[in-house]
Amino acid sequence: MREQETSDPPTSPHSPHTPHSTSTVERGSFALARCVCGWSGPARRSRDRARADAASHQAAD
Ligand SMILES: [Zn+2]
Repeated sequence: MREQETSDPPTSPHSPHTPHSTSTVERGSFALARCVCGWSGPARRSRDRARADAASHQAAD
């Protein structure tokens, strides 16, 4: 087999134009940040911390 497949790059969860839209989700007494790109942050005991995770995720990418 010497076929070269150059047409389709592997699908990546982060396409260059995916806008990061985060929200916080509550799970019991925990809160965690979630993004539409599929990312989710660690469970935090404070919603403010979850928001900080979301903010740094958006800023980092
Ligand atoms: Zn994201």
